[in-house]
Amino acid sequence: LRPDTLEVRRLVDHTVRLVETDAAHARVSIHVEVDPPDLRLVADGDRLAQALLNLYLNAIQAMEGGGNLSIRAFRDGQAVVFSVEDSGPGIPQEVLRRIFDPYFTTKPRGVGLGLAIVHRVVEAHHGEVIVESGAASGTRFQIRLPCNGKDL
Ligand code: ADP
Ligand code: MG
Repeated sequence: LRPDTLEVRRLVDHTVRLVETDAAHARVSIHVEVDPPDLRLVADGDRLAQALLNLYLNAIQAMEGGGNLSIRAFRDGQAVVFSVEDSGPGIPQEVLRRIFDPYFTTKPRGVGLGLAIVHRVVEAHHGEVIVESGAASGTRFQIRLPCNGKDL
């Protein structure tokens, strides 16, 4: 890892910019909230950006016909939490068990590495990924990372 002190707002804005065109084509509107606006953490910015992008792209791809993508970052105790929530169809139980497996995909032309990479990046930062998904309520992924970057 190449840990650095990151301004969360900059990281989120940068990564969101990279998917704006995809989102517009998919009629997905993106809502971003970073609270407090000067939130910081110590992490590998490139790896974390890759993980966030993978979550955004999955969310956009899940919302056929459009929807809402809500990206939030906030502090919870000693952790910084990145929350990526979509209004898509949700993930069925039998799929949910396998989403972090390398090469597992339900997409005709999927590769199945996106979430395996998310998992690896988060582990490397001694953090955790939480997923909540319901058929009617869409999907929310949360990445929780210790904000102090200890032992990176
Ligand atoms: P890929 O995107 O190539 O399929 P990923 O590892 O990124 O591989 O995702 C694995 C699987 O997890 C997807 O094929 C999909 O079934 C499911 N998935 C991931 N994110 C979402 C989401 N936001 N909504 C619904 N299903 C999702
Ligand atoms: Mg993916």
